Amino acid sequence: MFNIEAIRKDFPVLDLQVYGKPLVYLDNAATTQRPNQVSALIADLYQSGSGNIHRGAHFLADRCTMLFEQTRDTVKEFINAESREEIIFTKGTTESINLVAFSFGERFINPGDEIILSEMEHHSNIVPWQLMCNRKGAVLKKLPFDENGVLEIDLLESLITEKTKIISVAHVSNVLGTVNPVKEIIRIAHRHQVKVLVDGAQAIQHLPVDVQDLDCDFYAFSGHKIYGPTGVGVLYGKKILLDEIPPYQGGGEMIDSVSFNGTTFNVLPYKFEAGTPNIIGVIGLGEAIRYVSSLGLENIGEHEHQLLGYLTQELKKFGGIKIYGEAPNKASVVAFRHEKVHPYDMGMLLDKLGVAVRTGRHCTDPLHERFGIDGTVRASLAVYNNIEDIDLFIKAMNRVVSMF
Ligand code: PMP
Repeated sequence: MFNIEAIRKDFPVLDLQVYGKPLVYLDNAATTQRPNQVSALIADLYQSGSGNIHRGAHFLADRCTMLFEQTRDTVKEFINAESREEIIFTKGTTESINLVAFSFGERFINPGDEIILSEMEHHSNIVPWQLMCNRKGAVLKKLPFDENGVLEIDLLESLITEKTKIISVAHVSNVLGTVNPVKEIIRIAHRHQVKVLVDGAQAIQHLPVDVQDLDCDFYAFSGHKIYGPTGVGVLYGKKILLDEIPPYQGGGEMIDSVSFNGTTFNVLPYKFEAGTPNIIGVIGLGEAIRYVSSLGLENIGEHEHQLLGYLTQELKKFGGIKIYGEAPNKASVVAFRHEKVHPYDMGMLLDKLGVAVRTGRHCTDPLHERFGIDGTVRASLAVYNNIEDIDLFIKAMNRVVSMF
């Protein structure tokens, strides 16, 4: 049913030799590689010609418009949105969150209002809110997590006041791997008329997402973490909210009519898509989603879960390792430190042995501060990883540690 060797053949980069060693790519939480299906489609569109969308009455413009708008339907189906108007194309999770922080903030946030974030958020789910708070005189509050990296959900209700307007939380932590109970968070928030944005950057590639079932108000993700192109992402928003909040950027396409006396805005979703978007990137994202859907997210999750279990077990057997993030419900990310080898040295030396991991604070300073550490090594798995990758990684770790 799930032929990992066949899948690996779709990703020619996995045959790459780096410094004379076979590449072991374990930096998938930073960005995933693209299958042939995606790169071939993108190359074909660049080679066979493209036109600008929505505005040209010629063959190439029509072809691109059709493929671009078909991708909106693909995304709508993929996350089970109620309507295609709820799918906004952005340049990534970061832009999606900035859009909500700005536009929701403009419409709904007043001085003294409160926004709740979790302590494990990526900087891109902190800084846009801080910018908005500075503009609006609002306040950020944080929901902490425990030693194992589990959100202290019992505290949520006590953090919510009549001033709370929105909670913004990662579906999956990019460091701890924790799968947060977002459905429960949303249920609690909605009991208090508080809206919820879910940062799905690390979830969309690992588990099925159904925005109607979650009942989230906004959901953000990036193309490049789900085997698609860089520079493209999605913001899902409930229509009723997207209709109410003002545009984020002004420009072509997002308008209905413009005069020097004023402008009227286009309907959804175009109201939030100013200027020429990453047309070919969006179409490539559609192909990546078709690729993932053909494998099945349940199958992907099961495969990655088995690898995660093996990786965790091998790291624990290794000795001298502390893993950060041991939640019972985890996606395939493991952050750790070795007692003798600093994360930067570990990452640099692993690289020379062909193993790509990420080191540092992974854009989560508050999370690392919470643990009182200056960084971690992060190994993160994707659908194309296998047991051999993990064995090569552990072998390389042994080489590195023996140098110290
Ligand atoms: N949130 C999380 C949890 C992430 O892991 C990332 C990417 N590292 C982002 C947001 C930002 O994604 P992007 O850089 O693609 O906008």
